[in-house]
Amino acid sequence: MCIFCKIVNGEIPAYKIYEDDNILAFLDIGQVTIGHTLVIPKKHVQNIFELDSETAKKLFDKVVLVAKKLKKALNIENLNLINNNGSLAYQSVFHYHIHLIPRYENDEFKITFPTNKLTEKEFKDLEEKIKNA
Ligand code: 5GP
Ligand code: ZN
Repeated sequence: MCIFCKIVNGEIPAYKIYEDDNILAFLDIGQVTIGHTLVIPKKHVQNIFELDSETAKKLFDKVVLVAKKLKKALNIENLNLINNNGSLAYQSVFHYHIHLIPRYENDEFKITFPTNKLTEKEFKDLEEKIKNA
């Protein structure tokens, strides 16, 4: 059984900040910044590609709720949502989870977005390919 399933069933303790029949939110053990929280479906789903629409709706609704709880509790105005799918994308626990990472002035967390320049044709081809998939 995966580590997050063990948290769901109580085999492993966690600092739980929201729970209902389908969704659990708990503090990440790593605390990238103070308040770093994971929101997960209780049902074991490995990644976004396995996520069904009903679970996704319930999950994201609670992501929004937890974001607002963090805002109120920690007096923050800035927050990153991060979701890693697959090891190349830095997923290390293969039970779907969304990271909520509060941001503070001068915190240590860095994300960079390198840019690729595509031609008009490359953009157009990409648009068609994805749209029609
Ligand atoms: P990923 O790299 O898969 O997107 O993120 C996995 C996250 O799970 C990491 O941020 C890591 O700190 C957190 N994590 C791993 N094991 C545990 C655990 O046993 N308890 C809690 N609360 N968080 C964990
Ligand atoms: Zn699991």
